[in-house]
Amino acid sequence: MKFVFHTKNVDKTFYRQMMQQYIADHIKQSHGAYNSYRDFHEDWEIHVYSVEDWSGRLEGGSSVGTTNPGIPHGVTGEGIVKVYIIDSDDMGLMAIQNFAPIFHEIAHMLLIMMMRGRRGTFRNNDLSGNKVGMRANVSTQEVHDRQMEGKNYQVSSYVNFGTWIFTKWRPFTAIGLDLRDFIARNV
Ligand SMILES: [Zn+2]
Repeated sequence: MKFVFHTKNVDKTFYRQMMQQYIADHIKQSHGAYNSYRDFHEDWEIHVYSVEDWSGRLEGGSSVGTTNPGIPHGVTGEGIVKVYIIDSDDMGLMAIQNFAPIFHEIAHMLLIMMMRGRRGTFRNNDLSGNKVGMRANVSTQEVHDRQMEGKNYQVSSYVNFGTWIFTKWRPFTAIGLDLRDFIARNV
């Protein structure tokens, strides 16, 4: 897994550590099928852009479904996650706002990798135009159903930031879509 930042201001280490925490929280529910993200036999790239780089075009895949380009959002296709966030060095509320769509897209990625080919039935109308009862890949359906159901959890990690000379560690908590029980039951 490769993390590629196209941003100028976000603390890359901090964002990468939080993404790795979210991935770790979920793969440890896989009953040993996956022990670390190195176990995924696919080379995915996660690209982080500023919302200002958003072209307004959905290049296939699934997205949060926002039509406002100023709001952090993302798109996930085969082998690649692209998230568009507010490019700020803020490590408080703005970062928490950025992590919601980041984790949403990584949730798509995790289910594509772990449950490829599995189909599910929508329980809710989602923001992308899917309706109750429609069939779709689980990697889209379960993520969007849980988004509509508000099924989130607190993603907590110790993160370090600062320079290599002066590094501080501190706990940080963001909100992320919760797939842990789904993975525990199905992977
Ligand atoms: Zn989505």
